[in-house]
Amino acid sequence: MTGSFRAVVVDEVDGKQQVAVKSLKLGDLPEGDVLVDIAYSTVNYKDGLALTGRIPICRKFPMVAGIDLAGTVAQSASPEFKPGDRVLVNGYGLSERYWGGYSQRQRLRPEWLVRIPGAFDAKQAMAIGTAGYTAMLCVLELEHAGVRPGNGPVLVTGAGGGVGSVAIALLARLGYEVAASTGRAEIAAYLKGLGATTIVERATLAGKGKPIDAEQWAGAIDCVGGQTLANVLAQTRYDGAVAACGLAGGTDLPATVYPFILRDVALLGVDSVMAPMAKRVAAWDRLARDLDPALLDSMTTVEPLARTPELAADIVAGRTRGRVVIDVNA
Ligand code: NDP
Repeated sequence: MTGSFRAVVVDEVDGKQQVAVKSLKLGDLPEGDVLVDIAYSTVNYKDGLALTGRIPICRKFPMVAGIDLAGTVAQSASPEFKPGDRVLVNGYGLSERYWGGYSQRQRLRPEWLVRIPGAFDAKQAMAIGTAGYTAMLCVLELEHAGVRPGNGPVLVTGAGGGVGSVAIALLARLGYEVAASTGRAEIAAYLKGLGATTIVERATLAGKGKPIDAEQWAGAIDCVGGQTLANVLAQTRYDGAVAACGLAGGTDLPATVYPFILRDVALLGVDSVMAPMAKRVAAWDRLARDLDPALLDSMTTVEPLARTPELAADIVAGRTRGRVVIDVNA
């Protein structure tokens, strides 16, 4: 590719964010040892927050948004990578301090790059994206805490979203009995198609609950936070564990210590953005092994670069189901 290319650029004008698809040249890109021809990016909840400006994600302007990218190395000054290598990046401050994936080309630091596992093409890598890789990090945390398929059901909150959808598919494939909590009754068949056996109405977890409640879940993956996470902790079985990764329902945690001190429940924090490389590679290896590609396809839609601002508004409004891949060349 020569000459100019397109990118979604966030600017700040009079203290307000403006988002536009702009034409860039190679000379506009930041410094970085590896130039990548991007094939696909994706829309995660954080991308929604960044483009709508609902939470200040972009810390520098102008900013090329997009926390994920997958493509092919075009030029490399790093001995680790050569032209033609298939690579992806998740997080590492893309769209915050560093230019990200909503672009046809990007210059990046080699230490951010993960090789796309042989099991996936670039589109599948982005169908997984940060959401799917985070779902796998949560599964790994639960496994590490001793949660096993025979221990009892595992609850996934925010089930219809990206993290939730991939988490259900992974857990079901690994043999867990999966309960899916959703606010959208109309997606029950979709969630069961991914492997959930029980649907839990979001509203039953959203209101103020008991500090300690009937034991239900051997484990949980929580995308919602707030009162929901407090209630999930209160319903977790003795010696169970809850992996907390999200804030779709709030950032507070109005819980008590009872689940921890009476039931030995573990609350496990999960961060994808600054996760060390060894953890990333382990998660991507496990995704290649444990994620059914047909289910991944069934939860994914592909959209052109120009639609990212609309899709960002959709995801923060809770209208997105599963995963949205961005074809940056469409
Ligand atoms: P999505 O928007 O795809 O999924 C979020 C889901 O949460 C929605 O689909 C909806 O599911 C549910 N939801 C939305 N609004 C509310 C609400 N007000 N109250 C309760 N439930 C709600 O986002 P992602 O899957 O990409 O991300 C999920 C969460 O995880 C986000 O908060 C995101 O910021 C966080 N995240 C954190 C990462 C980390 O590194 N820790 C990495 C990736 C994501 P339904 O309609 O089925 O109820």
